[in-house]
Amino acid sequence: MDRALQLLKELIGVDSINPSLVPGAAGEAAVARTIAEAMRGMGLKVETQDAAPGRPNVVGTLEGRVRGRSLMFCGHIDTVGVSAMKAPFDPVERNGKIYGRGSQDMKSGVAAMIDAARVISESGGLAAGKLVIACVVDEEHASIGADALVTRWRADAAVVTEPTDLQVAIAHKGFEWVEIETEGRAAHGSRPRDGRDAIRLMGRVLNGLDVAEGKTKTLAQLLAKLGFGNKALVIDGDALNVSFANASGNLRGINLMPAIGANVYDILNHDTLVLTRAAVEKLEARFNG
Ligand SMILES: [Zn+2]
Repeated sequence: MDRALQLLKELIGVDSINPSLVPGAAGEAAVARTIAEAMRGMGLKVETQDAAPGRPNVVGTLEGRVRGRSLMFCGHIDTVGVSAMKAPFDPVERNGKIYGRGSQDMKSGVAAMIDAARVISESGGLAAGKLVIACVVDEEHASIGADALVTRWRADAAVVTEPTDLQVAIAHKGFEWVEIETEGRAAHGSRPRDGRDAIRLMGRVLNGLDVAEGKTKTLAQLLAKLGFGNKALVIDGDALNVSFANASGNLRGINLMPAIGANVYDILNHDTLVLTRAAVEKLEARFNG
């Protein structure tokens, strides 16, 4: 069997669910040991680096015969959870595809980059420079593995083997959680002028986002400046994504473009009351007349 596929199946077989996503989950220690052993067997120099207790990055290096530029391959070894999967750690090959937790994201990329080092190592070694195979923890949560990695390892160029539908991506939009809170002033529903409706203030913010979305193309602008034109594949586009929270709500952990945003206004102001009285008087007059 293809050695990369063999390694991929082995990696899928090791539970490496991110414990920051799923409390009590296995974490990356076991899969890190499997990877370290595989890379040592290929003749790479292997080091580990604890990004957190029990959560080690594994870094293998292949030195060239003469000094030169360095290339890093980087991939993460944690996965998301497995709820609703029947046999997540049993790799199954069907119709030319391999199934199992992490088969795509991204144990396949990790297996491929490690196997690339094996092929070089077994065909006479690296002529010049240095190849760094960086396997990092915690990409699915806070990327503490990547943060730790860059404090110790540098390279002239890097390839991250995350799946991008077999197209080369040269940029990522990144992500931000932005919490916006509008502050109003509570008042009784029958006396709205005594207060300030925080939801109506939020409406202005949301309206502003609509305008901003049409105008800001920061990533596209940056790429144009760098001379990439539109050759870059930008994953997931470059759009704003607004999540609603209710009054008692939890702003974090919701990553959903809401289909419906509803605000309920309690409209009972004095103008209505005056009109109503006038209407009643009119009706009374008509009735009496
Ligand atoms: Zn990934």
